[in-house]
Amino acid sequence: MISALSHLECSRTGKRYDADVVQGLSEAGAPLLARYDIERAARTLTPQALAGRPSTLWRYREMLPVRDAANIVSLGEGMTPIVPLPRYGNRIGLPRLTMKDEGLVPTGSFKARGAAVGVSRAAELGVTGVAMPTNGNAGSAWATYAARAGLRCLIAMPVAAPAISRTECVATGAELYLVDGLIGDAGRLVAAAVAERGDYQDVSTLKEPYRIEGKKTMGYEIVEQLGFTVPDAILYPTGGGVGLIGIYKALREMQELGWIGDRLPRLIAVQAEGCAPIVEAFRAGRDESEPFPDARTVAFGITVPKPLGDFLVLEAVRATGGTAIAVNDADLLAEQRRVAADEGTFICPEGGACLAAARQLRESGFLSGTDDVLVLNTGAGLKYPETIPVDVPALPVDGRIPAAAPALR
Ligand SMILES: *Cc1c(COP(=O)(O)O)cnc(C)c1O
Repeated sequence: MISALSHLECSRTGKRYDADVVQGLSEAGAPLLARYDIERAARTLTPQALAGRPSTLWRYREMLPVRDAANIVSLGEGMTPIVPLPRYGNRIGLPRLTMKDEGLVPTGSFKARGAAVGVSRAAELGVTGVAMPTNGNAGSAWATYAARAGLRCLIAMPVAAPAISRTECVATGAELYLVDGLIGDAGRLVAAAVAERGDYQDVSTLKEPYRIEGKKTMGYEIVEQLGFTVPDAILYPTGGGVGLIGIYKALREMQELGWIGDRLPRLIAVQAEGCAPIVEAFRAGRDESEPFPDARTVAFGITVPKPLGDFLVLEAVRATGGTAIAVNDADLLAEQRRVAADEGTFICPEGGACLAAARQLRESGFLSGTDDVLVLNTGAGLKYPETIPVDVPALPVDGRIPAAAPALR
């Protein structure tokens, strides 16, 4: 036994649930959160011990749900770099800006973290098929890890989801359906299929307890990589919000482990103006979001009109003195390009949204020029080739390249 997992807990009522059988939502219809025997974990999970462990997210195995190491399904996910962005940071008045680059994990997005842990634990508990709706990246990641684990995988995604994720699902042998609608519509179709088939688990966002456990490792890594300190603010592109809820959960666990003190980073939920249910709820002082009408943004991974875990995102943002902010598509695409040219980092549009938000929060004074600000780039720009228009001269074979380069922007 490598995990200190003790039980599951309803995120609304606190009721305890058995962690060693397959579970979905609580009776209150809320996500279940994994709880650990922290004292037991702390005996072997120490900063010193970590130094000698492999550089994957499984280094935090005591605080992950997989009981038997033999059940771990891995492609080397985790321990992504925290990249300083000095040139770009100076441009926007945040010289201490850094970016944790999740574009470097298998399948090119941080969704691999949730899939690695979720699939491993599902297989450990005897699940033989997983089914989910997705905006693209979660589907590619779960299809990939399901293939590796030998599980069947059923995916439904909006027709408008990035085309590459279809290819990844097909390549890894998933059963894939395209839906002429949004992720919620795909979710209804999946739920009906799961009910009918009986031998699939519905692993939709927060409908099973372990995807968040994989995503929380971003929080553990940030703290470990910063030498067991925390930054002043973390910006996260928020769709379902699992990454942000996970980072907050990790921070609270690390406080209990004694790795960090009372001060937590301000957690900032970044959304697109075309789909900003969390931002609206935050501004209105509400604990839950309302379904966002006509949701639409190029940052497709954050098109979630009514996140199931909205109340947990809002709690994390408020408890840390953070905020929620929406940016428009033109701004996030402009920042995506600017940071690539300034720093050599080709990020996803959702990461661009975090940079646009950092710029605006610096302008408004919410962030100061001395703050250590960390943005999450949740995926590789390579997965979104259509976000960069390529308008360059085509030369005939006997043509000529100009003697001097054009003036820099
Ligand atoms: C899924 C996704 C997000 C949003 O993640 P949540 O944890 O569901 O909020 C952000 N960026 C990218 C690239 C994604 O694929």
